Amino acid sequence: MMVRIMRISAQFATMFFSLGIIAKNTGFTALIALICSMNAEIYLTSNSKGFVTAKLPSSIAAFWSQSSEESLHLYNGPKGCLMGVIHTGKGNVAEHEKLRKEGNKCFVSLPKGITSVEINNVDWDAPKALAFVEGFLLSDYRFDKYLTKKSANAPLQVTMSGKGKEKLHEVQVVCNAVNTARNWVNEPVNSLNAQGLADVFTDLGVDAGFKVEVFGEAQIESLKMGGLLAVNRGSQEPPTFSVLEYKPKEAKNAQPIVLVGKGVVFDTGGLSLKPTPNSMDMMKCDMGGAAVVGAVFEAVARLNWPIWIVGLVPATDNRPGEMATCPGDIITMFDGTTVEVLNTDAEGRLILADALAFAKKYDPQLVIDYATLTGAAARALGTYGSALMAQAPDSVVKSLKKAGEVTYERLAELPLWEEYYEEIKGGIADLKNLGKGEGGAQSAAMFLRHFTNYPWAHIDIAGTAFSTSASHYTPKGGTGVGVRLTLEFLRQQING
Ligand SMILES: [Zn+2]
Repeated sequence: MMVRIMRISAQFATMFFSLGIIAKNTGFTALIALICSMNAEIYLTSNSKGFVTAKLPSSIAAFWSQSSEESLHLYNGPKGCLMGVIHTGKGNVAEHEKLRKEGNKCFVSLPKGITSVEINNVDWDAPKALAFVEGFLLSDYRFDKYLTKKSANAPLQVTMSGKGKEKLHEVQVVCNAVNTARNWVNEPVNSLNAQGLADVFTDLGVDAGFKVEVFGEAQIESLKMGGLLAVNRGSQEPPTFSVLEYKPKEAKNAQPIVLVGKGVVFDTGGLSLKPTPNSMDMMKCDMGGAAVVGAVFEAVARLNWPIWIVGLVPATDNRPGEMATCPGDIITMFDGTTVEVLNTDAEGRLILADALAFAKKYDPQLVIDYATLTGAAARALGTYGSALMAQAPDSVVKSLKKAGEVTYERLAELPLWEEYYEEIKGGIADLKNLGKGEGGAQSAAMFLRHFTNYPWAHIDIAGTAFSTSASHYTPKGGTGVGVRLTLEFLRQQING
């Protein structure tokens, strides 16, 4: 069964109906017409006969005779058909988000058994159409590899053509990358440990076209990455440190943008053990930051973007094994800083700190780190946005926030006041890995800042990386939040 999405304008209302005949003649049993002209319209019917014989509902007819401020209408027409209207024009961020949700609605409304969607003749230079398709594609996700009985609907085959094809292709690649991140987050630790994460990066690098170098335990030891090694001490499985690089000849930046991702493949809390309900039970997602970094590389490499990026992913599980780091232990980090580990569940900052210090050698233009770091960030913002803390030029912060608005992966900035740094200054070591509970996202960020000497932004995705229930085009489980945000940010960097 196939669905066709086509562009038709009001002037071609007759063509609209002739499409139904085409559909019938070519044996399609379902059809969507996506029209992105002045009086655009989506028409979906469960069978071609329904499409041909459907009479325009009076609400649609009324709409055709007047312009509406609304971006998209969906009508439940006769015989289970669905009709909608998209206006052209750029639209604003709120309209785009609404259209993503409408794309989801459209996806959910597809008749059962549809295996392919063909989208033709749509003006893809219209951002509104792109937002609609983005919502549609982001909805086409399920994590069913472990189900012996797969869900009835296989992933859709979506082919697209039309004006502005490159943009369309870009949306597809971006949505695929989001799904890559979702898959990695959804994989449990018994199938994706630190070595497994390094392996999927390596395989993806070969496939998409970026370089991956993986440091194993011996190399991490010889580099004296004391933070990563301390977190790994209670584990039976060795840590990894992955270095990703994409450096095209035509790169517009002379210094790389470095992306650092927290790769705690499972976080029990270590000896400072977490309780299970609503806490440890979701902790396979503690490598959500690493997933963002890998997925961003996938999209940038596949799209051949002219930007030089480096990715650093320290990875380990955090377990309370026999030799686990004890509360009170003092460790020496990669850069020589000593840290008193007061709580072994504040492990993310320890592995990130080594990566951030390691990033100095690249003389980076900017470093952004992504981490499911603190419950405090999740409590402050809920699941509706991620926390941004930055010590970077205003233009960078502005661009990141704008990217957050454009993609609706919003960022709320929290302050880096020096008082937070006072909280984590140590008594018997240079630093301690724990500040006060209040303002915990900021004291964690100040811990990280200690290891930077370049423009830096920290994004705490603790509330957004993993979802306990589906919402519109965001599925339950790994969300991939951070991928579209970062790609939009990099796009802005390339376009100046
Ligand atoms: Zn933890």
